[in-house]
This record gives sequence, structure tokens and C-alpha cells, in this order.
Amino acid sequence: SGKIRIGIVGYGNLGKGAVKAIQQTEDMELVAVFTRRDPENLHIEDTNAKAEHISKALDYKDEIDVMLLCGGSATDLPEQTPQFAKHFNTVDSFDTHAKIPEFFAKANEAAAEGKKIALISVGWDPGLFSINRVMAEAILPNGENYTFWGKGLSQGHSDAVRRVEGVKNGVQYTIPSEDAMEKVRSGVNPTLSTAEKHRRVCYVVPEEGADQAKIEETIKTMPNYFADYDTEVHFITEEELQRDHSKAPHGGFVIRGGKTGDNNNQIYEFSLKLDSNPEFTASVLVAYARAAYRLNKENQFGAKTVFDVPPSYISPRSGEELRRDYL
Ligand code: NDP
Repeated sequence: SGKIRIGIVGYGNLGKGAVKAIQQTEDMELVAVFTRRDPENLHIEDTNAKAEHISKALDYKDEIDVMLLCGGSATDLPEQTPQFAKHFNTVDSFDTHAKIPEFFAKANEAAAEGKKIALISVGWDPGLFSINRVMAEAILPNGENYTFWGKGLSQGHSDAVRRVEGVKNGVQYTIPSEDAMEKVRSGVNPTLSTAEKHRRVCYVVPEEGADQAKIEETIKTMPNYFADYDTEVHFITEEELQRDHSKAPHGGFVIRGGKTGDNNNQIYEFSLKLDSNPEFTASVLVAYARAAYRLNKENQFGAKTVFDVPPSYISPRSGEELRRDYL
């Protein structure tokens, strides 16, 4: 069919988002989804694609151009990226920032051995935010970068809230501090800790008869998670929680305040407001699958990041069209 043939490894939030993102393209087709669970139980919203056990992946060596690795960063990707990069072009969204150098080295070794491309840490942070941090700094060397996250649902902090005694259910949103954002936008380049840049808002469903004042106190004073932050706690019903808080929104801002010439302020700002973090992240992976495919077609191999990929490589349109419509 001439389309880029895609496989998905791991069918969680990101894997499901990837199925939907591929359906919005005209130049890609989904061949199969691979899982460590029983493939019989996967419900894939694409009738042309197969559900397979992960142990069958190598049978598809000649039928899949790019594998989207949609496993978790904590334990799945450190194993799966080096394994798959030996045999397939891969794109993953590894997001443990501190471990990226080590992860890159292992992916690079595997991809070089297999003469494939391993495009690592693709998504929005790391990913689109990283590109903007690099661009802003290169253009405005005399300045400071700031990254704010939110409004976003944080899985780790929501879990912490749900573990508090007397809490039946709950969610936590990380929200950028408006004061801190205004300071940064004014160009004064303030020194700000993570806690000064963000506030935390919790929606809690209490168990029947629970002491709400005590729950609030326990959350607000919880070390590491909440104690250093401006934290709000709101009590709601289970129905309200299901109705208003069942999506996975996220987003954030990269802002650089820089100075040029005779003390002129130059503010560089990039932001995302996402209703669904996994669907957006999966859409980024799918766009970068084009780049992995094209780079490998040029006989390039090894690990790459978003820093190494020209924007035209992620677009389905020709260079001619891009120059005509978007320059
Ligand atoms: P999930 O927890 O939903 O899925 C991770 C894996 O869990 C799946 O691939 C799946 O593998 C396995 N799994 C096991 N049991 C189940 C089950 N019952 N239902 C669903 N999955 C199951 O994680 P996400 O998809 O939300 O996120 C994956 C990673 O994406 C995150 O760890 C994060 O690091 C990264 N990410 C990166 C971003 C960025 O901007 N760079 C942004 C957002 C996320 P299997 O099918 O093999 O069982």
C-alpha cells in the first residue's frame, strides 16, 4: 500500500492513544499491537490490526517499519527499547530525565548493532518542551529558562492522597503559580524553587463519617508531596469525582526571559493545554515515527533524540508544500 507500517508494543493509555493517532494519518497503517498479557483480551479499535503476544514480535521483522514502544518508563522501556532496537526502528517516550544519558547509550548500542533508528524520549516533556528549551537558549544566550507544569493530573500525588486515612477516593492537580509566571514574564529572571512555581489542588471523596479537618491537615503537611507547596483540599462526592475528574489533562509552559542589546527584554514562551496527556503524547510518537522511518531509509542508524530530527521529517507533506504554506 506504500504506507508506513506501524507496530505498537504495550497497550496501556499511550498504546490506546497511538491507535487513535495512527487512524488520523493517511500515510501510516497499524499492523499489530503486542502485549505481555493475553492478546485475546485486548480490545483494539482498529479491525485491520492484529493483537499478538510480545513473544511473536520477531515474526513481524519484515512487516513492520517502526515499532512504537508504549510501555512505562520505570521498568518496561529500560528493557524493551534495547531489545526491540536490535530488530526494529523504534520510537519511545522514556521520561526519567536523570537516566536519559544511560538509556541513550544502551539504545544506541542496540540500534547500531541492528542498523536501526532508536528515537528516544519523544513526547512533550521530554520532547517538544526540550526542543523549545534548546531553541530559546541558543537564541537568547543571556537569559534564564523556566518550565512550569500543569494544569495537570499527577498520578503519584493522587496516589498519595488516596493513601491518607479516611480518604475513599481522590485526585490531585498540579497548577502553575500565577504569581511566579507573571514574575518570569516580566523579565526579572527570579530564582524560583519547584514549590514556588507550582501549587497543588486536591479533590477528595471522604469515607462516611471521616474527620475532614484531619484529612486536610494530613495532606497539607505530608512531607515531599505537599508540605512545601501552597496546597488546597476540596471535599466532593464520588459522583462529582467521576463526572468532573475522570480525564487525564496536562500541559505546561516553557518560558525564557532573555536580554539583548541595551537591556531589552525578550520573552520566549511555548505552552500546551492538553485534555488528554496520553492521546497527545501518542500523537507526538506517531509523527516522529515518520522521522525514524525516513532517517533509516537514508541508512542512518543508532539512537537519536528530538534534537536530531529536522521538523520536515515529522511532516507528511513535501518540502515544497511546507515552504509554500508554512514559511
Ligand atoms: P500505563 O501504565 O497505562 O501502561 C504501561 C504498560 O502497562 C502498558 O504498555 C501495558 O503493557 C502494561 N499494563 C499491564 N496491565 C495493564 C492493564 N490492566 N491496563 C493497561 N496496561 C497494562 O502507562 P501510560 O501508557 O499512561 O504511560 C506510559 C509511559 O509514557 C509513562 O511511563 C511515561 O513515562 C511516558 N510518558 C511520557 C510523556 C512525555 O512527554 N515524554 C508524557 C506522558 C507519558 P502490556 O500491554 O505489555 O501489558
